[in-house]
Amino acid sequence: MTVDELPKVVTSEKLDYKLLMQEHLTKNGKAIKPVKRRNESQTIDPAIHCSCCQAPSDYLYLNNGRAQDNQYQCKICHNLFNYKN
Ligand SMILES: [Zn+2]
Repeated sequence: MTVDELPKVVTSEKLDYKLLMQEHLTKNGKAIKPVKRRNESQTIDPAIHCSCCQAPSDYLYLNNGRAQDNQYQCKICHNLFNYKN
């Protein structure tokens, strides 16, 4: 059994949200702001980060399709991903 092998990542391109935010600021002259929550139920667990650019939960939208299969969208890199505990 090989345990040393790294898991295969589908998206080979890894982004950095700090760089993306800086890039956006440079291009548009304004920063990407954290997502505004309309109500408490839209609050995202701070443990969740974008799977692509590692943006914190403040920059993630909750795509409330199915209750037990939450899908998130990153405001910074627009990546869609699922998060399971
Ligand atoms: Zn992202």
